[in-house]
Amino acid sequence: MAPVKSRAIVLRSYKLGETSKLVVCYTRDYGKVRLVAKGGRKGGGRLGAALEPLMVSGVVFYLKEGRDLSLVSGAEIEREFPSMRRDVVRMAYGSAVVELVDRTIHERERDTDLFDHIERSLAEMDLVNEDELDQALWRFELSLAAALGYSPELSACVQCAAAGGPLAGFSPTLGGLICARCGALGSGIALTTVSVAEVLRLVAADVRSGSASGTGVRLTRAERDDVTRALHDFLGEQGGYQLKIKSMDFLAQIRRLDGAGTETGQGNG
Ligand SMILES: [Zn+2]
Repeated sequence: MAPVKSRAIVLRSYKLGETSKLVVCYTRDYGKVRLVAKGGRKGGGRLGAALEPLMVSGVVFYLKEGRDLSLVSGAEIEREFPSMRRDVVRMAYGSAVVELVDRTIHERERDTDLFDHIERSLAEMDLVNEDELDQALWRFELSLAAALGYSPELSACVQCAAAGGPLAGFSPTLGGLICARCGALGSGIALTTVSVAEVLRLVAADVRSGSASGTGVRLTRAERDDVTRALHDFLGEQGGYQLKIKSMDFLAQIRRLDGAGTETGQGNG
């Protein structure tokens, strides 16, 4: 059996025995794969380094139909994100991306667009100003939702289809924005202001057009938390599971430590 080669983003890795590693990757050509790297533990030189989480590596492995695990025969780093390695906040955002992929994608199925979105998002998170990290994550979450086939309804109330009035809430269960009347009937979460709905629409438009220009809308901390929560709960509800993303909890803790009073603006307008 000849090995295959693919560009791969490492989602997570574990110890396996004394010297080996179990590595979960999202590959550009084969989707999500679980690999065993013999002798790939830390200190295992270049192979081990190429199979650390958040690396983009060229990985050579033996893919067998019907087998859950594939054996790695080689791996070389193709791209790494140095700022993320140095900065715990950036690292948390990058980790949120790979955790989301790991929790929502279960198939060994090729999706080169999704692969490119993941890589682009990690590259953005390595480079953008710190106050643009939220938007990079939101764009990624909406790209992921689109890849999974369930983009949220953001143009009219997802419950009653009313488009006229302000859309004042978001229902993760129904999958979109809801009007004040449906919100009053108990559906979904109330949004702090209408800016939250506007930003959700602008981010979705950015995702559709492939732009990363940012919404240019300045949001308060509470409004940003609304967007984050809406998208996170939406992905969990639509996927039919409780999404517990460790790095998201970590980010929430950082925000609390940041102090509720720091209303840093969002956007680059
Ligand atoms: Zn409604």
